[in-house]
Amino acid sequence: MRVLPLIASGLLTSLAFALHAHSDHDHEHKKHDHGHDKHQHDHKHDHGDSLGAHVHGVASLNLVLDGAILAVELDSPADNILGFEYLPSSDADKATTKAAMDTLRQADSVVSLPSAAGCALDDVKLESLIFAALETSHEHAHKHDHDHDHKHGDKEHAHNDLSAQYQFTCSNPDALSAVEVSLFEHFPRTETVILQAITPSGQQGGELSASNNSIRF
Ligand SMILES: [Zn+2]
Repeated sequence: MRVLPLIASGLLTSLAFALHAHSDHDHEHKKHDHGHDKHQHDHKHDHGDSLGAHVHGVASLNLVLDGAILAVELDSPADNILGFEYLPSSDADKATTKAAMDTLRQADSVVSLPSAAGCALDDVKLESLIFAALETSHEHAHKHDHDHDHKHGDKEHAHNDLSAQYQFTCSNPDALSAVEVSLFEHFPRTETVILQAITPSGQQGGELSASNNSIRF
């Protein structure tokens, strides 16, 4: 038993090494791997942030109601929202990104809550390498200079995710008996939303789509 930790740490080290070495070949793999969640996931460490799966058309939405506080988090491949996943460099792509950020900042573009619950949006956080790149786009204008250490420079094969986090305070949280996902209307490249909700009535989940876009608690 005493040697086990040594073996385990040795394994972890070689696994980490293998994953790292593997990431050099990301481009070839990623292009074909959209259906293979696990495989995709292995590569995600490069991005820092991670979704369980990166499958275009699929997003996840998590809701947690704790007392009067409702937290909602959308995690999505950037493609669902923007139609691309590389860092924007053209004016058109920057405009698309900016418009999407403006839309995402309106929480009701993502979820619509029963008005009786009286939920007021306190805070929105948008996160993505793509959004960050837009904010420092003058620095990224010449990013091809350092593409060698930065796989996102490859426009054709880069993958990026984004997240949008919302916090609401609800004056009548008991009336939060259902939510409707409005993301499909605003970002039609999103086909499926995997929703998980934790409310006082328990944990619920389901796969939603444009034609089946609400969940009851
Ligand atoms: Zn992708």
